[in-house]
Amino acid sequence: MTPAPGPTRRTLADGRHIFYFDDAGTTHTRTARDLRELPSATIESQMRYDVLTGEWITMASHRMTRTHLPTTAECPLCPTTLAGAPTEIPEANYDVAVFENRFPSFAPAQDELLSANRFGPDDRRAVGHCEVMCFSSDHTASVGELPAERLRTIVGAWISRTEELSADPSVEQVFCFENRGEEIGVTLTHPHGQIYAYPYVTPRTQAILAQADKHFQSTGRSLLADVLAFERQDGARVVYAGEHWSAYVPAAARWPIEIHLAPHRDIPDLPSLNTEEREELAYVYQDLLRRIDSFYPGIDRVPYIAAWHQAPIRIDRHLGRLHLQLFSILRAPGKLKYLAGSESAMGAWISDTVPEAVATRLRELA
Ligand SMILES: [Zn+2]
Repeated sequence: MTPAPGPTRRTLADGRHIFYFDDAGTTHTRTARDLRELPSATIESQMRYDVLTGEWITMASHRMTRTHLPTTAECPLCPTTLAGAPTEIPEANYDVAVFENRFPSFAPAQDELLSANRFGPDDRRAVGHCEVMCFSSDHTASVGELPAERLRTIVGAWISRTEELSADPSVEQVFCFENRGEEIGVTLTHPHGQIYAYPYVTPRTQAILAQADKHFQSTGRSLLADVLAFERQDGARVVYAGEHWSAYVPAAARWPIEIHLAPHRDIPDLPSLNTEEREELAYVYQDLLRRIDSFYPGIDRVPYIAAWHQAPIRIDRHLGRLHLQLFSILRAPGKLKYLAGSESAMGAWISDTVPEAVATRLRELA
C-alpha cells in the first residue's frame, strides 16, 4: 500500500489555515490562491459555567449569521471553479480538505476573563478550535459511497488533525464527528464533517470517566474494555466482528439506531491506531454507514451522527478508551425521535426500540 502524502498546508484570505489531504497515489501541487477579499472574522464566543449542573455552556452569537442551506451554486464547500464564485476551498478539485471554520464556536485566542460569576468559575472567552472537513469535491456524494482509498484518506486526516490540535496547551479534548441530514440541523448538504477542540472535558466524557473510575477502583480493569469483551462473548448485540475491531448495539441504547465501534486493543485515541487497525477502520466505518443507510426500506439516506470518543489529552487518559458512537434519530420513515419533556428536562431517556432487534436488523444488512 502506498502511503498517502502528508497534508499540504495553505492560508486563506483572512489568515485561516486550510489543509489538503490527497489520496495515496495522486500528485497534486495545491498552489491555488484564495483571491477573495475577506474581512477578518469577528468571533465573540464566551463560556459560562452552569452552577446547577457543573457544565460549561458556550454562547456563540456570531453564528446566527452563518450560511444556512445555500443553493448548490453557492455552496462554500465546493471547490472553486471558473464558472462560479470563489468558495472556502481555492483549489479546482480536492480529495479531503480541512479548514478552520469562519463561524467557530471556539476560536484560538488568549484565555481572557470576561466577568465574575459569584457562584462558579468566571466567564471566559471560548478558546479552542473548530474545523470543517470536506470528504469530496462532489457536492452530492455521501461517505458511504466514496471509493475505499478515500476512506483511508479520511482516517489519516482525523489522525493528523487530532495530533496537531492535541498539542495546543489550551485544548483538553478533540472531537471528530459528522452530522448528516437536514433533519438533524445540518446547514450545508455538501458531504463534510467537523472537528472540535474543546478547552474542557465534555459532559458525556466526564460521565463515562466517572463510571470508568468506579469500575477501575473496584476491579482494577478498564470499563470500556470489559464492556467490549462482554459484548463479543455474548454476541446478541454484535453487528460486526473483525480482526481488530468489533461493533455492537449498546445494551442501554438511547437512539432508534445506535452502534458502538471499538478497537480490540486498549488505546486512548485515533493517533494510537497501528497500520492494520487503520486499514480495517477504513473498511468497517464505511460498512456501518451503508448498513444505516439501508436500515429503513424506501429511504437511501438516513440522517446520522458519527461521533469519535477520544480520551482527554491531559487528565484521566488511562480511563478513556477510543470508540465511535454512530446513531440516527430516525425511528421510522418520516418520524424523528424528538427529545421530549423527560429527555430534555430531566435527562431521563425513554427508548421505543429493543437493542437486540436493532442488532438483528443490522446483521441482516451485512
Ligand atoms: Zn458543495
